[in-house]
This record gives sequence, structure tokens and C-alpha cells, in this order.
Amino acid sequence: MTLSNRAARTVHDIECWLTDMDGVLVHENHALKGASELLQYWRENNLRFLVLTNNSIYTPRDLRARLLASGLDVPEENIWTSAMATAEFLARQRPGGRTFVIGEAGLTTALHDAGFIMTDQNPDYVVLGETRTYSFEAITKAIRLIEGGAKFIATNPDATGPSAEGSLPATGAIAALITRATNRDPYVVGKPNPMMFRSALNRIDAHSETTAMIGDRMDTDIVAGMEAGLLTALVYSGITAREDMDTFPFRPDLQYPSVANLHAELVKGRVPSDANPAETKAASK
Ligand SMILES: [Mg+2]
Repeated sequence: MTLSNRAARTVHDIECWLTDMDGVLVHENHALKGASELLQYWRENNLRFLVLTNNSIYTPRDLRARLLASGLDVPEENIWTSAMATAEFLARQRPGGRTFVIGEAGLTTALHDAGFIMTDQNPDYVVLGETRTYSFEAITKAIRLIEGGAKFIATNPDATGPSAEGSLPATGAIAALITRATNRDPYVVGKPNPMMFRSALNRIDAHSETTAMIGDRMDTDIVAGMEAGLLTALVYSGITAREDMDTFPFRPDLQYPSVANLHAELVKGRVPSDANPAETKAASK
């Protein structure tokens, strides 16, 4: 693809879609405008897609149930978490390795499935994910293991997570505590590391030239999508407000108030035309 072609990519060139979850499809257990229609559009048109989340607490099965409760039907195989990306990354680095894990089922299940042993005896890695019950004892253990030579991995860099009562300390904040104590920085797999997108692309056999990333944050979704070579679409239904977008030194390829507008653009482009009977047939399936 030439440079000029690449700059001219539109939503109609896209064969595979990656989308962030919170702020794009859902907000506090409510489906956002257009989310259900967009998911339905992808399914009906046999477009490959993955719903991405930096949250490493939940398994894909848990997340599917949570999305269903919000009115969104996303199959388990269409969900990709930072825990899964971390497990895949570590499986390539050290197959069958030993890990000391601070996290929930989303992380321990992913690591088990990837063939890792969980132990506090001579682990190759300390893997830090998100939990609502960080224990001082486990953090102390992690610090001592890292001092003893274990490599420090974190699923995601987010310093806080949302709750109904206010902010909660999240993986990035606990990682900072461990870094302060050990003088070791973690390798962080989740967004904005493009590693999260590379593994997602592999998962659905997608190519960056024909894949788009939809997100609500310039500093994670859009920068990482851009660095992974994807078409980027920012929606204003989450964190980054329209007026804040101009403060960043990079721009998304596309921007919409919500995915409802993106869905409308996709549908508009698929209007069957008399000039192309084959497409008419395909579109009416
Ligand atoms: Mg988001």
C-alpha cells in the first residue's frame, strides 16, 4: 500500500475491527448509543472484531456476562483482555515458565491456559494485574521475589479504576509502589503498548492496513492504534472530550460523537447499488 493510499483509508476499507470497551460500548453497565447496532452490523457482515479491555480482573466469560447484562451480545471469543495479551506474550518469552501472580481469575486463568505454573518459589516472573483486594503480604512477597531476580511484568498501566464511590487504586499505582521499593520498572503489556494490539491482530488473523481501532482515549487507544498502524477512530462518549483532542500532538484518522455515528457511516456505505449486483446480493444476505 502506498503512502497516499494509506492516508486515504476509510471505514469501507476496513475488514477487521478492534474496539475499546468502556467509554465506547458501555459506561457503568449501560450500553452506549449505537453499540448494539455496531456489534450486530459486524456480525451480519461477517467482519472479524475484538472487544479490548485493559481490565485484567475478569475472564472473557465473565465479561460476556457483564456485557449481556448491559444488553450487548459479544461472544467470548471476541473478547481480548490485557491478561490474555500478557499470558500470550509470556508464553512466547518463556513457555511453561513459573509465575507469582497478584490478580484475579482473569489473569490466573489466562496464565494457566497458557501453560504457566503459579508459585511463590523461584518464579521467573512476578505478574501484577488488577484486583479489588491488594494485600500488603502479597505485595511484600512480590518485592522480595523481584529483588531475588524474578522479572517484573504488569498487565496494564492504569493508575486508577472507576467505581460508584470514586477512584480505586489500580495496577499502575501498585506497580509504582513495587518499583519504588525495588528500583525495577515493570514491562507493561496492555494499552498503550502496541503489543496489546499486535496480539489482538494475530488472534483474528488481521492485518494492520485493513484494521481499525475505536477508542475513547487519545493517550491510550488512539496513540497505540496509530503506532500499530491501524486506522484510528476516536469517539467522544468516554474520557477524551472534543475540546481536549487538539491538545495532543497526534490526531485520530476519524472522530465521532459516538459509535452510533460510525455505524451510520458504515450502513450508508453499504447501500446496495444497481451498478454492482454482486454487492447488492451480498449486502441483502
Ligand atoms: Mg475506554
